[in-house]
Amino acid sequence: MGLFFLPVLLGWCVSGDAPAQALAPAAPPDLASFGATPDAAQFDRLLEQVERGDLTVSSPQQVRAVIARLDALRPRDDERRALRLRGFRCDYDDLGPPAVGLAFARAGLADARRLGDIGGEVRFGLCEANNIDGTGQTSQSIASVETALALARKHNDPRLLAQALTHRGSLRSLLGQQAAALTDFLEAQRVLTAAGLRKEAEAGLGDIAAAYRRMGDHAKALEYLRQSMAFAERQADPGLLSVALLQTAFLHEDQGRHDEALGVLRRAIEVAAGHGLEYDVAAAHLAMASALVKKGDFSGAETALATARIGFERLGDRSNEAMLQLLEGMVLAGRGDDTQALAHYDRAAREFDADPNLRYQVDLYAARSLSHEALGDYRAAMDDLKLERTGRRRLNDDARTQQSLLLQYQFDTARRDLENARLQAERRSERQKLKAVERAYRWQLAALISTGLLVLLLLGLFLRQLRSTRRINKLALTDALTGVANRRHVEVAAEQAVEQARTLGEPLSVLTFDLDWFKRINDGHGHASGDQVLVRVARACESVLRSKDLLGRMGGEEFIVLLPNTSSDAALLVAERLRDSVHRLDLSDVASELAVTISLGLAMLRPQDDGVHDVIDRADAALYRAKEAGRNRVAVEV
Ligand code: GH3
Ligand code: MG
Ligand code: MG
Repeated sequence: MGLFFLPVLLGWCVSGDAPAQALAPAAPPDLASFGATPDAAQFDRLLEQVERGDLTVSSPQQVRAVIARLDALRPRDDERRALRLRGFRCDYDDLGPPAVGLAFARAGLADARRLGDIGGEVRFGLCEANNIDGTGQTSQSIASVETALALARKHNDPRLLAQALTHRGSLRSLLGQQAAALTDFLEAQRVLTAAGLRKEAEAGLGDIAAAYRRMGDHAKALEYLRQSMAFAERQADPGLLSVALLQTAFLHEDQGRHDEALGVLRRAIEVAAGHGLEYDVAAAHLAMASALVKKGDFSGAETALATARIGFERLGDRSNEAMLQLLEGMVLAGRGDDTQALAHYDRAAREFDADPNLRYQVDLYAARSLSHEALGDYRAAMDDLKLERTGRRRLNDDARTQQSLLLQYQFDTARRDLENARLQAERRSERQKLKAVERAYRWQLAALISTGLLVLLLLGLFLRQLRSTRRINKLALTDALTGVANRRHVEVAAEQAVEQARTLGEPLSVLTFDLDWFKRINDGHGHASGDQVLVRVARACESVLRSKDLLGRMGGEEFIVLLPNTSSDAALLVAERLRDSVHRLDLSDVASELAVTISLGLAMLRPQDDGVHDVIDRADAALYRAKEAGRNRVAVEV
């Protein structure tokens, strides 16, 4: 399992649009310069060449060839080198299902302790963590990594220390702690670079890209992915290349470019399958299924999912079970079988309970809500919508927190480096008293200049961040289809409206509404007509609202109206006006005999409300009653 395993897990959350060129088929590693009889020096030299990346070992055949040769070179009575070879297998070999790998790691750990081999202890500790993770227990494997990392810090082996740091970073990244993950990855880079291990450092670029992508910094992710892809191609390393391709596909997916993602995934499958990288092949099929579902190609998605499932099952890997169940559910729902879909969603939910991942859980809630809604279970649908809403809010908050934490960490590191430079300067000036004044002056100047540069750099960073935030905010404010405010915009505006209402002691009313029998319109006249209806409804509503009111689309066919400084009675009138204007909408140009109505729920801000979401929840509950009472009507909160 070893090293290929973790990067791909990480890949789930990464990616760019780097060029994908052909990679030469796997050549057997060049072992000609090594003998085939026991020889400790040659054993060490071969290991070193592999670890340095001078000898590329990533396909299973290459791994087997190197292991066989190391075994032949190993002196028969040399327990430490025997253990070292087992440790090597942990990193490179496929040890079978996680449970088998775990037993292998724990046996190695016991032997390392018996021999007092600290390096071995670190290596097998990480191996243990990796295999715990393969059983789907990300949060538990972090304890093993922490132990290994603490040992590695006392042990003088930069490569091992970097490996432990990278490992912890990967887990942290999976757990959503991107800023902490990046500090691990960047420390690993520093450790490796300081030790002159440039190739090892380059091999870690993909991890950095992954963390940036998860943090929502697509530009940075792309920058690191491009470097990583170039390195993989220079090294002719299919393992690294396929991970980089997967990550690139995820980056496309994140930005809604499904076709680009699919193109890159096909290439990833080609590379991975051509080199026997079974895990990567399965992961790429899973990612393909996700993109196909989003495109509405359910039969394509079904095929991709079946392939992914078989692949993971053959490897004994359970870490993607939740995603498999979720996507299987989405395919069923897409085909109209919402009852079966719900069964899959529930299984996915149980997997997530054991190993939470909010990024995917919000997708689950959204999908499950749709199926509940389709089956007429509005209560459950609303509960899921609320879960989704809270989840997304938390994800947004987390991303913001991680970004500012990272800036903080970067600032701290830069300041520490500066501090060290100054201390060094002082020490030297003491040793060479004659040149003391001159030297101190130079160092002070250097410190001054670096401080200036640092300030400029940070300022630049902040400004860039500010500019891009502004740009993104603007782009991100409107709903692409209808041109009205999107959910994010509404959430921000709603918080402001609450604050204003509370400061000025004004009433605040909120309307939520949902198109009636909209599915029938889609089914009867096509999705494109459905889209046009949404546009027309939004326009009709906007025309009867005052300029201080805000109309927003919360998703699908659900809208919201914020009515600042509006009492319940006045809001009821607005609601009736909205209902009426939609009811009277002439849609004959979209399709003959097409008509549409809406149901609305009305709620007002109360002093004891926690935030605007409480008001929205009450409006949603009223809306639900309006639907039950026969639709095309307004209901007021109780
Ligand atoms: P109800 O009166 O109870 O709300 O019935 P409904 O049919 O409106 O509710 P249902 O949830 O069954 O249907 C909502 C449909 O809206 C399902 C989905 O296909 C469709 N929909 C969601 N977003 C869009 C969109 O952007 N465009 C189009 N055309 N349809 C959409
Ligand atoms: Mg609806
Ligand atoms: Mg509806």
